[in-house]
Amino acid sequence: MRKKIIAGNWKMNLTHSEGISLFSEIVNMVKDEKNGNQTVVICPPFIHINSLVQLSNGIVKIGAQNCHEALNGAFTGEISAKMIQSTGAEFVIIGHSERRQYFNESDELLTKKTISALQNNLTPLFCIGESLEQRNNGTYFEVLKNQLKALTAHLDATDFTKVVIAYEPIWAIGTGLTASAAQAQEVHAFIRSTLAEAYGEEIANQTSILYGGSCNAQNAAELFAQKDIDGGLIGGASLKSRDFTDIVKAFNF
Ligand code: PEP
Repeated sequence: MRKKIIAGNWKMNLTHSEGISLFSEIVNMVKDEKNGNQTVVICPPFIHINSLVQLSNGIVKIGAQNCHEALNGAFTGEISAKMIQSTGAEFVIIGHSERRQYFNESDELLTKKTISALQNNLTPLFCIGESLEQRNNGTYFEVLKNQLKALTAHLDATDFTKVVIAYEPIWAIGTGLTASAAQAQEVHAFIRSTLAEAYGEEIANQTSILYGGSCNAQNAAELFAQKDIDGGLIGGASLKSRDFTDIVKAFNF
């Protein structure tokens, strides 16, 4: 059975004390709503991670939003997968469109980061997604296939089974525009068939594929009811405990 995952991405928001208080609320609320099949994850800024791990009580898992590809060294300002893992965090977002766009992270670099995450026992939440222009000019399947292939060409099947894919259409991130359930399902099925070409049906069917892009308490249930959608990567709505918990609740089946 595929893992159902709801992951919150706090991005560069909240002071340390604000983060602790929001996280405490989320843990309290989610513990009554989540069922045994769901994995709930919060990805805060790096400086919050250690404190939140201590407060998580195993109810909500912790992830980072990025990692460096090297284990350690003279890379001022960077954080490695090994360092993240040493805090007790279990996940790391890799290839978010904001990293690809604002920090020029290439497919090649993202593959290196994914490999480092896996070597350090972190679960990569590997993001792919098309721009509005690519959606409108009909090249989005090709774009997504290329983003996936850049990764799958370098990972063997055993390693790939530890990766979670997040489909995040860039035009839907933080814009209030959501892919319709049918649009999201179409792409998720396409991702799964592309993974089947790379690793076979069995592994493709075991891979959790999350949807991200203005997912909220109102649209979550319809999105999560789609056959190939295994959860969500949630930005804005993860900054409000009620909204985030309602999204977890929408997937409680
Ligand atoms: C994200 O950035 O991962 C995201 C999905 O953001 P939002 O939910 O705010 O669109």
